[in-house]
Amino acid sequence: MSSTQNNKSSALQAEKVPASMSTSMLEHISLNKWEDSGFEWAGEVIPNSFERLATILATEHAQSNILLKANLYRRNDVLHLAFTLTGEVWLTCQRCLQPIVIDLTDDYDIALLDNESQIRLVNEEQDYLLLDEIITEQSPERLLPLKKLVEDEILLKTPMAPKHDDCEMTVEQFGEIPEEEESENPFAALASLKGKL
Ligand SMILES: [Zn+2]
Repeated sequence: MSSTQNNKSSALQAEKVPASMSTSMLEHISLNKWEDSGFEWAGEVIPNSFERLATILATEHAQSNILLKANLYRRNDVLHLAFTLTGEVWLTCQRCLQPIVIDLTDDYDIALLDNESQIRLVNEEQDYLLLDEIITEQSPERLLPLKKLVEDEILLKTPMAPKHDDCEMTVEQFGEIPEEEESENPFAALASLKGKL
């Protein structure tokens, strides 16, 4: 994912260095305004400001802000959202229940496709999303949910059951935690009946 070499975006970076770092997370990027010219944002984000992430953060260890640099740009006529995260979050080790640090530092790049026919324009390893699936409201303007997309990537990088590599607590003391079976959606049956009623 970190193998993005885009000359265009680095040229944009030179032109649009943010005057000051923002400390409140930008929630959306207006595609109406920026999808042609490109857009950049940089700032520090507070881990607890991500609602889904906040539920798994350790409370017994202070969290530090994460540095986010985001860049909306086009390559081969395909819109991309690239961003760099620098920082870490503290979760709770599922073995000893002590804080464990998870490094989030990485480069991320997601192609934002108008439709599936654009898949051929991006290479095989490229992550992509369909704009229609991530933009819930088209009017009065098309807003790219930057904060949600960044949080999605953070959650993907965050282990479901973090454990210290050298955790001293042995598993036997707690016994095996049974894996939760994925229960079938109770509404799935309803959906299949729907056509027949
Ligand atoms: Zn541990």
